Amino acid sequence: MIASMYAVYHGPEGLVRIARRVRGWTGVLRQLLVGLGYELGDEPFFDTLRVGRGPLAQDEIFSRAELAGINLRRYEQGDVGVSLGEPVGVDDIAELYGVFGGQPDGVDIVSAAAEMVVDDAAMRREEPLLTHPVFHRYRSETEMMRYLERLSSRDLTLATSMIPLGSCTMKLNAAAEMFPITWPEFAAVHPFAPVQQADGYRVLFERLCGWLGEITGLPAVSLMPNAGAQGEYSGLLVIRAYHEARGQQQRDVCLIPESAHGTNPASAVMAGLSVAVVRCDAEGNIDHADLASKLERYRERLAALMVTYPSTHGVFEQGIEEICRSVHEAGGQVYLDGANMNAMVGLVRPSELGVDVCHLNLHKTFCIPHGGGGPGMGPICAAEHLAPYLPRHPLADVGGRDGIGPVSGAPFGSPNILPISYAYIAMMGAEGLQRASETAILAANYVARRLEPHYPVLYKGKHGLVAHECIVDLRPLRASAGIEVEDVAKRLMDYGFHAPTMSWPVAGTLMIEPTESEGKTELDRFCDAMIAIREEIREIERGLMPRDDNPLKNAPHTAARVTSSEWNHPYSREKAAFPAPWLGQQKYWPSVSRLDNAYGDRHLVCACPPLEAYCDAP
Ligand SMILES: *Cc1c(COP(=O)(O)O)cnc(C)c1O
Repeated sequence: MIASMYAVYHGPEGLVRIARRVRGWTGVLRQLLVGLGYELGDEPFFDTLRVGRGPLAQDEIFSRAELAGINLRRYEQGDVGVSLGEPVGVDDIAELYGVFGGQPDGVDIVSAAAEMVVDDAAMRREEPLLTHPVFHRYRSETEMMRYLERLSSRDLTLATSMIPLGSCTMKLNAAAEMFPITWPEFAAVHPFAPVQQADGYRVLFERLCGWLGEITGLPAVSLMPNAGAQGEYSGLLVIRAYHEARGQQQRDVCLIPESAHGTNPASAVMAGLSVAVVRCDAEGNIDHADLASKLERYRERLAALMVTYPSTHGVFEQGIEEICRSVHEAGGQVYLDGANMNAMVGLVRPSELGVDVCHLNLHKTFCIPHGGGGPGMGPICAAEHLAPYLPRHPLADVGGRDGIGPVSGAPFGSPNILPISYAYIAMMGAEGLQRASETAILAANYVARRLEPHYPVLYKGKHGLVAHECIVDLRPLRASAGIEVEDVAKRLMDYGFHAPTMSWPVAGTLMIEPTESEGKTELDRFCDAMIAIREEIREIERGLMPRDDNPLKNAPHTAARVTSSEWNHPYSREKAAFPAPWLGQQKYWPSVSRLDNAYGDRHLVCACPPLEAYCDAP
């Protein structure tokens, strides 16, 4: 979003202007260095110079650069790399000139720049770029601000109401946690800056790894993976490396229960493992008999079991310890998908269950905002025996002695969002974290109890309780009223709510995760909406409302529809758009009405101007 808005704000003229400046300063610096007697190739350049032999040796240049607070690139052959970016100005050029042995007072850089002839005709791009109108419309901060506001007002966010997306853990991203990521001390550090310049980051990494190790009981932590799925992939590669080091390279089968998140089998295949699916019983738990037979069948080839706990069915699986033990007896390792850690922090450590390695979704449990797909962090926490195999990186001192290769570009993943999780843990403290888990579980059970008389709750543990999320079953409504789960999801928008997770992990159900961030008033409002929708479905069941023309089938109702002169539905406009009392206070208007999601996913439509517009383009 940041990158696209950068292009929207500057537009093609602005981007070209910036590029010319960068290229111009690079040319000035090049001329100055040639004047000092350095060798510079005459190949085309843009923002980067490779400076060869000259009056000063590499070491001398580097110690001067360090004094000036400038980082350069050290080539093995003694050359020095310089790269200039958008913020560079005349003072920086003067300073660099001095670093290479010039007398900054003795040159008039501004005149030198003015006299520079940039001959880039051979490389100049001729065809127009960024022709879409959006890159030409917003040139003042006022216009830009309104454009951004217009876009964001189409979203139903946590700023509007709770987002009960099961498994996604849409919790508060507190302002105090978010502040530090804007500080230049965190935001303006290059991922490969010399370590002695990133001491604050080093302390942050060490403390955070220590805390995550303590929370999971798995002390060997790698911050390299950038997402949950990448953590899965890394953890499985670590397990493979462990087996290989013990001469067991034939262990290449990964057992995955059928309730698993879709990323689990995908990661296993990416890590070069064959997937064997383990069945679940009617309560949504791993079928022990099926697990036993799969363990028997793959005894020689078993690499790992991948398990989610509490399960994706939202229950604390009975017998998890027994499951881990039997996998170990068969020579396998246990990988825990830790995306549901929000139900466990401070209550139980995965290590105590018998887990060998797990990932944590720092976006989810540890408060990094993650609407719209990232950026995330999926560090892995491993037991001591796996520590030697944690991922290494060619440009940093991280990972284990016999570690696997890097799993992402930078050694610590996306470090500049780590202060969010750091601040969350630091501010909550041990007691606060435990309280959060307890509150999240309590909230889910409260919602389950309130909704149970209206929608059956699909899976529960031995004591009739759920973990931090609950699945409500809407499948019976298809026969009784012709209502699909999607109709309820869309109708929730009219009530001002984001839908829960839909048809996952069980088709025809909704999975609700309230998190500890929602107070009782908001939980009640959501339950009231769900119950009111159930009443609307009863009207259909009783034949008071037609099956094909009712508030659910036509949901969501846009402002345009509701205020249109034509209205020929068997229910009122008020019922369509203002079905609950709180909507008089605050109404979220969906910007489009119902789309055919499946059709839309398969038939992409370009939001570009019509093709004819391109015919007229110069
Ligand atoms: C979110 C989630 C994942 C994947 O995490 P990403 O960061 O989206 O890759 C894996 N498993 C479960 C159970 C999840 O909820």
